[in-house]
Amino acid sequence: MEPSPYYNVILIQPDESPVTNPITCTDCGARYMTAFGYVDINNPAVEPKPMVYFANWIPGHVDEGITLLVGRGEFEGDEAVNMRAIAFSLKPWRDGLNIDLVDAGQTLFAEGLRHVFSEMSTVSEARKHPELELYHSIALRVVGDEPRFKSYLRQFSEIME
Ligand SMILES: [Zn+2]
Repeated sequence: MEPSPYYNVILIQPDESPVTNPITCTDCGARYMTAFGYVDINNPAVEPKPMVYFANWIPGHVDEGITLLVGRGEFEGDEAVNMRAIAFSLKPWRDGLNIDLVDAGQTLFAEGLRHVFSEMSTVSEARKHPELELYHSIALRVVGDEPRFKSYLRQFSEIME
């Protein structure tokens, strides 16, 4: 999938939550890393709605990559309303990054994120979603601009050299 015309007008706003999560890998005990943030799009063709993202990864588990949920919908106070998540798996592949859809409800932090992402798309629901291209562009922008990914993404390029 090519980056959409939206790509250049997407702006991410990482929040200030700690990147190290108390949850650990059941195999090796390494701590999960997580990142949350907000998304703005400056394009009159895109209906303005709150948009958020959440990512998790484990440093050292480069082959597992980053799991990224992108949500677009509404908030009532702190509760998400009709906030639909589409989830992506980002893995190193050849000289770049491979992006696949995954079932949002099956991602590791899904249950704890229900107040943020009220609707969790399966892969087949995501494929049929009319705004999939927009979600995909947001995912690409998060990968490019999220500062908390930088040291992890460097590991991708190291294993590919
Ligand atoms: Zn592990």
